[in-house]
Amino acid sequence: MEFIREYADWFYLIGAVLFILTLRGLSGPKTAIAGNRYGMIAMAIAVLTTFFVADNPVVWMIVGAMVLGAVVGIARARTVPMTQMPETVALMHSLVGLAAVLIAIAAIIHNNKLIELEPDLLAANGVNFHEMSRVHLFELFVGCFVGAITFTASVFAYGKLAAKKWAKTISGVWVKPVQALIFIAMLAAGIHFFLTSNMTSFWAMTALALAFGWVWIAPVGGGDMPVVVSLLNSFSGWAAAGIGFTLENNMLIVAGSLVGSSGAILSYIMCKAMNRSIINVLFGGAMGGAAAPTAAAGAAVQRNYRSGSADDAGFLMSNADSVVIVPGYGMAQGRAQNAVKELANLLKEQGVTVRFAIHPVAGRMPGHMNVLLAEADVPYEDILEMDEINSDFPATDVVLVIGANDVVNPAAKDDPNSPIYGMPILEAHKARTIMVIKRSMATGYAGLDNDLFYNDKTMMIFGDAKKVVEDMTKAINGTGH
Ligand code: NDP
Repeated sequence: MEFIREYADWFYLIGAVLFILTLRGLSGPKTAIAGNRYGMIAMAIAVLTTFFVADNPVVWMIVGAMVLGAVVGIARARTVPMTQMPETVALMHSLVGLAAVLIAIAAIIHNNKLIELEPDLLAANGVNFHEMSRVHLFELFVGCFVGAITFTASVFAYGKLAAKKWAKTISGVWVKPVQALIFIAMLAAGIHFFLTSNMTSFWAMTALALAFGWVWIAPVGGGDMPVVVSLLNSFSGWAAAGIGFTLENNMLIVAGSLVGSSGAILSYIMCKAMNRSIINVLFGGAMGGAAAPTAAAGAAVQRNYRSGSADDAGFLMSNADSVVIVPGYGMAQGRAQNAVKELANLLKEQGVTVRFAIHPVAGRMPGHMNVLLAEADVPYEDILEMDEINSDFPATDVVLVIGANDVVNPAAKDDPNSPIYGMPILEAHKARTIMVIKRSMATGYAGLDNDLFYNDKTMMIFGDAKKVVEDMTKAINGTGH
C-alpha cells in the first residue's frame, strides 16, 4: 500500500499512456479490441491507485459507491437494447456533469469549513489559504459551470433521443435573447463568486448554468443533434478534467482532457460531414425546425409511390451485378443486421458485388451503423464511407435502403428551403433501381418528407426491416412463398 502511495504518479503515468494507446487502438476496426483492452487495464490502474492515495479514505463509502455503480452499470448494460444505446450514452454524459457539480459543491463546503475551523493550522503550515483558494476558486467556477451545463443539456438530449414528451424542441424569437441573458447572468455570478467567494453567487451561478444547459439544447433541430451529442461527450471530458484539478488528481486531468479533446475533434469531423460550422450548431438552432415537417407530411398523402414485395425485390437483386446497401436507423430499430449480413452473403455467393454505404450521421449516434455491422461480422472492406461510395451510385444496379430516410433525402441537395439543405447525403437517387424497406411512408428523425420514395425508379417494400430482409433471403434461396 505504501509502495502504491509512493509511486502513485508513476502508476498514473502508465495509466495515461495506456489511455492514449486506447484511443490509438480505437481509431481502426482491426486494432479496436486491443484498444478496448488497454482502456480496461488503464481504468483498473487508475481506480486502484486512487483508492490507495486518498488521505484517510472512508473505505466503506468508496467500496459501497463502487459496488452500487457496478450493480447499476452491469444491470443496465445487460438489459439495454442496442436501439437505446444513444440515449444511454447521453445519460452517462449527464452523470459526469452531475459528478462535477457535486464535487465542486463538496470542495467549496470543505474549504469553507477549513477556513472556519482551522485558520491557525493553515497559517502554521505556511499556507496562504486565500491566495491558494483564488486559483482553486477559478477551477471550481469553470468545473462547476461546465458540469452543470453538461448535466441538463445531456438530460435533455436523452429525452429528445428517447422521444420523451418533456423534451420538446422550443422555437421563437425570444429564444436567443433568453439564452444570451442567462449566459451573461451566469458569467456575472461566476465572476462575482471568483472575486468575493460569495456563496450566494456560487449557488446562483450553478442554478443559471443548469438552466442554460436546457435552453441551449432545447432549440437545436433534428439535423444538428448528432453534433450536439458528440459535443456533450467532449464537455463531459472537460468537466471530468475540472474535477481532476479540484481533487488534484493528475490521472483525472489527463483522462478528462483526452475525452474532451477527442470529443471536440469528433464534433469537428461531424460538422464537416454535415456541412455545418460549429458556431452555427452551438448558437444557430436553425436546422431541422419543428414547423416544416407537418406541412411536408401532409403533402405525402397525395403523392404516388410504387410498392413491391420482398420476393420481387429478391429476384431483382439476385439478377443484378452490383448492389449497394444503405442502412439507417430502421436497421438498428428492427435489429436486422444479422439478417442483412446473411442476405449480403447469399447475393455474393450468386456473383453479385455487394457493398455497404455508411453516412456519418446514420442512426442515432456517431458510428452507429459501423457498430451494428461489426457486430454482425460484415467484412470491413465491404463497408464504405459516404465520400468513397457516392461517385459509384450511377453505375450501381440496385441500391437497397434499409430503414434510412434523412441520410438519402435528395432535398438536402435540391431544395434550398429544406431545413436539411446543404447536408451531404448518400446519393442513392442516382442508382438504376432503388428499393426502400420501411414500415410506412412516415418521416425520419428530421420529420421531413422524402422525394426518393416517390421517384419513378423506387420500389417501396413495406414491413419490419428484419422480416422483409429474411423474406428476401428466402425468396432468393427459392424457399419463399
Ligand atoms: P431516419 O431517422 O431519418 O429514418 C429512419 C427510418 O427508419 C424511418 O423513416 C422509419 O420509417 C424507418 N424504420 C424505423 N424502424 C423500422 C423498422 N423496424 N423496420 C423498418 N424501417 C424502420 O434515419 P437515418 O439513419 O436515415 O438518419 C439519421 C437521422 O438521425 C438524421 O436526421 C440524423 O441527423 C439524426 N441523428 C443522428 C445522430 C447520430 O449521431 N448518428 C444523433 C441524433 C440524431 P417507418 O416508421 O415508416 O418504418
